[in-house]
Amino acid sequence: MHRTPARTPARVAVVGAGPGGLTCARVLQRHGVEVTVHDLGAAPAARDQGGSLDMQAGTGQYALRAAGLWEKFGALARPEGERTRLLGRDGKTLFDAVPPREGQGNPEIDRGQLRDLLLDSLAPGTVRWGHKLERAEPLGAGRHRLHFANGETAETDLLVGADGAWSRVRRLLSDAVPVYTGVTFVETGLNEAEARHPELAALTGEGTMMALDDNLGLVAQRNSGGHIRVYAGMRTPEDWHRRAGVDLAEPAAVRAALLERFAGWSPALRGFLTETDTGYVNRPLYALPVPHTWEHTEGVTLLGDAAHLMSPFSGMGANLAMRDGADLAQALAGHPEPDEAVTAYEKILLPRSTEAAEGAAEGIESAFAPDSAEQVLAHLTGRH
Ligand SMILES: Cc1cc2nc3c(=O)[nH]c(=O)nc-3n(C[C@H](O)[C@H](O)[C@H](O)COP(=O)(O)OP(=O)(O)OC[C@H]3O[C@@H](n4cnc5c(N)ncnc54)[C@H](O)[C@@H]3O)c2cc1C
Repeated sequence: MHRTPARTPARVAVVGAGPGGLTCARVLQRHGVEVTVHDLGAAPAARDQGGSLDMQAGTGQYALRAAGLWEKFGALARPEGERTRLLGRDGKTLFDAVPPREGQGNPEIDRGQLRDLLLDSLAPGTVRWGHKLERAEPLGAGRHRLHFANGETAETDLLVGADGAWSRVRRLLSDAVPVYTGVTFVETGLNEAEARHPELAALTGEGTMMALDDNLGLVAQRNSGGHIRVYAGMRTPEDWHRRAGVDLAEPAAVRAALLERFAGWSPALRGFLTETDTGYVNRPLYALPVPHTWEHTEGVTLLGDAAHLMSPFSGMGANLAMRDGADLAQALAGHPEPDEAVTAYEKILLPRSTEAAEGAAEGIESAFAPDSAEQVLAHLTGRH
């Protein structure tokens, strides 16, 4: 019997080479669909990829399997990184274990290693670096012309916005913009932690340490290569530094402001604020309004943070981005009509991300509250 061949879109353009966009491209290529990824970064290692991610069973792990990268991931992953320690502001341990609900084998990997794993799996030349999307011009019948800051243009039959929090592609589908959550992280870090900062390394333990109290928090997270990434979190106005007359480019001024905020915390914990090898980076946390949805529009869709930016207190933004990427690619590979595939994908994506975003919004509220240690302890021990 003669069958009409599957009408996969001739030209799929993914904008954004984060975990979501790269996973989508990899799974598409495994199914023989042609794809180009455009990223504003000048080169693969142009920016610090930062932080450790735990790969969760139903999302990140699923995506790695769909990408055929599960074995290679296993060689890089750190199972011990799942351990979580919660301290009070006095430095006393309140919880130190693998949390029962999350500890079902969610190994950790550095974000940079994950990115390299995905990048190395793509056909050479898939990612076009130095391509910052300025705008996407609808051409009718689902086609778009992409305009890049470097003056180049490209045409596409399916445009996938995987371009993160401040997505340009999102403008085609929704007016939503990220809103400040009320919480800012100031990021710092320790190199060769065991040798150079043994007390802070011991306080951190082998995974993640959180000390939370009264709208403030310290989070220290093991990365590979002896590095510990530290976030000093505070519920504070977004322009806290201007109000306090602090020049963010002056490490001594940032350190002094943080020490003032964390006055009354144990001297051992305050060591995370003073012993920095990396300086301080101000990171206000944003989230898209919940729920964030859009009317299905032929020829364009979103995945990852572009679709559902949420506070890191979901603990799964990168995991969801990868699952989105895998789901979209599998739908495109499995449906004869690309538009039907995107419709099917969005039917799964929107409720899934709404549920996670609601959890993230609750998570950041309880982690930066007057009684945050009690609330997070109840969560970690399953008593909430
Ligand atoms: C402090 C912190 C801790 C976190 N911890 C975790 C965690 O433990 N676990 C977890 O799962 N998630 C975590 N997250 C969330 C996670 O980082 C994001 O959800 C994830 O990176 C989203 O992936 P993405 O591919 O959608 O977007 P991104 O990773 O943001 O990638 C977007 C890509 O698009 C590119 N881009 C942007 N604009 C353009 C443009 N105009 N043109 C071309 N390219 C463009 C960027 O260069 C980038 O490469 C954390 C987030 C923060 C802030």
